[in-house]
Amino acid sequence: MTGLTYDLHLHSCLSPCGDDDMTPANIAGMAALKGLEAVALTDHNSCKNCPAFLAMAEEYGLLAVPGMEINTSEEVHAVCLFPELQAAMEFDRYVYDRLMKFPNNEAIFGKQQIYNAQDEICGIEPNLLINATDISFDGLWELVRSYDGVMFPAHVDKTANSLIANLGFIPPDSRFQTAEVKDLKKLHQLKKDHPYLNGCRIISNSDAHYLEHINEPDLTLLVEERSVRGIINALLKAQ
Ligand SMILES: [Zn+2]
Ligand SMILES: [Zn+2]
Repeated sequence: MTGLTYDLHLHSCLSPCGDDDMTPANIAGMAALKGLEAVALTDHNSCKNCPAFLAMAEEYGLLAVPGMEINTSEEVHAVCLFPELQAAMEFDRYVYDRLMKFPNNEAIFGKQQIYNAQDEICGIEPNLLINATDISFDGLWELVRSYDGVMFPAHVDKTANSLIANLGFIPPDSRFQTAEVKDLKKLHQLKKDHPYLNGCRIISNSDAHYLEHINEPDLTLLVEERSVRGIINALLKAQ
């Protein structure tokens, strides 16, 4: 076993709420500067900046995981990570077909910029990415597994767009083995209120929308293998 410093929930300038400075290259550069070893790009309902991000992150020697923060039909946010870029992009197409289509208003929500591996803007996503999809939380674990990936509920301690806030409880037949908690000081009470979490691996990511909010290398994820596959395998199991 070896520990990896990590931040597995980051938004690029493709998320409307992501700062324009959150380009794939800048995120990779900042993560490397901070001394992080494992990073994932998880834009709202899209993996379209993952090709550029993986190319940039490779240059910095980071373990870069392609991913997405999906917004389910219940408006629950869940992070989905994949061992291979191709699987992530196939999942991206599946989700995009199930996204409520509504044109983005850049003046209100912000730009949705797609970058290429040469660090140039190569596209603008026209439909607002923060809308709900018609994919329900129930069955999401199995769906993401069918793409060889792993899913964990995002920021379960948040009062909006979280599994606990939106459903009111953790479905007892849930399959996820990892949960993301934003404020670890709340963990003790959360576990008391939701005993399901006692059986979970707890991680904490920045959910950064601005470069300066990316995690410091304070937390480590124990993996059996220092690879993207090793990260996915760790998150598939509670401990
Ligand atoms: Zn979220
Ligand atoms: Zn997020």
